Amino acid sequence: MLSTVEGVSDGVVAGKVAAGARAIRWLDDLDPRGRAVLQRIFPNSGQAHVIGVTGPPGAGKSSLVDMLVKQLRDRGRKVGVLAVDPSSPFSGGAILGDRIRMQRHATDAGVFIRSMGSRGNAGGLSRAAYDASVILDAMGYDAIIVETVGVGQEEIDIVSLAHSTIIVSVPGLGDEVQAVKAGLLEAGEIFVINKADREGAADTERQMRLMLHLRESAAADPDGWQPPLLMASALKEDGGDAIVDALDRHAAHLKDNGQFERRTGVRNQHIFIAEVREQVARRLLATTSGGPLMEAVTAGSLDPYSAARTLLDRVDIRD
Ligand code: GDP
Repeated sequence: MLSTVEGVSDGVVAGKVAAGARAIRWLDDLDPRGRAVLQRIFPNSGQAHVIGVTGPPGAGKSSLVDMLVKQLRDRGRKVGVLAVDPSSPFSGGAILGDRIRMQRHATDAGVFIRSMGSRGNAGGLSRAAYDASVILDAMGYDAIIVETVGVGQEEIDIVSLAHSTIIVSVPGLGDEVQAVKAGLLEAGEIFVINKADREGAADTERQMRLMLHLRESAAADPDGWQPPLLMASALKEDGGDAIVDALDRHAAHLKDNGQFERRTGVRNQHIFIAEVREQVARRLLATTSGGPLMEAVTAGSLDPYSAARTLLDRVDIRD
C-alpha cells in the first residue's frame, strides 16, 4: 500500500523503488506523511557512503557522475543519485536535459536517479537533498551521490552533509580560482580536473597542485587526509576507476579514525536544529497572530523586529 505511512516505510526498508519515489514525493510536496516516513525509517539509515559532487556549471559533473555510477555498478554497489539543481523550476521530474545521459542506467534496478529542483523546499535544497538521502540510505543503496552546481552557499551546505566531497574543475576557465573563492578548496576531499582531454589541462593541474600544496601547508587537514588531485575525461570514460578508488580510500580513512560516525552525528545535529527552527516558525506563524503580523510587516505598518518579538512573546519556554 503506497498511500499509508506504514506501507511506504516498509517498502522503503525493503528497497522498493516505487516506495522510495513516493516518500521523496511526499517530502517534495511538504506532505506530513513524508516526515512520518523519515521518522520510521531513520534507524535503518546510516550505512551508505554519501558523496557530494560539486563544481561550476558545464564542468561535466553529470557526465562524471554517470561514469562513477558505471564504475560503482561494475564493483557490485547499488547507487543512488540526487541531482540538485537550484536553478530548476522543476521538482522531482527527470525533465532536465542534462540528466538524459544518465538514462542508460534507467533500466538498472541497482541505480536510483532523482532530480531535485527549488520548489517547495522550505528548509533549503541541501536539507531536501539530505532528507532524500536518508530515504535512499534506508533503501539499501551503498553509495549516494549528491550532485550540485557550485555557485554559492547551497553547495557548501551540501558538502557538510556528505562523507566525501569531490570538487570538479575544468581546464581553461579559471575555475581553480572559483574553487578558492567559493571556499570549496577547504571543503573538498577529492579534486578532479575533468575534460583532461582538452588543451590546458596540464596548466590547470599545475595550478591546482600548487593550491592544494598551500592548503596542506596551512594544516587544513587535521585528520591527516591528503586530498588527491585526479585527471579525468568523462567524455572518454577515462579516470573513473581512480576516482572510485580514492572514494573507497577516503571512506576507509574516515572509518579508521571514527570520522564516519562522527560526521553522521554532526549531520544529525544539524537536522535536529533545522527541524526545531522550521517547525517552531511554521507553528507560530500559523497562530491567529501570525497572519495579521505578517500583513503588517508586508504593509510596512510594523517593523519586522517588533513583529518577531510580539510573536515570540507568545511562546512560554520553561526550563
Ligand atoms: P554539468 O553542467 O557540470 O553537469 O556538465 P555536463 O555533464 O552537462 O557537461 C557539459 C558539457 O561538457 C557537455 O556537452 C558534455 O558532453 C561535455 N563534457 C563532459 N565531460 C567532458 C570531458 O571529459 N571532455 C570534454 N571534452 N567534454 C566533456
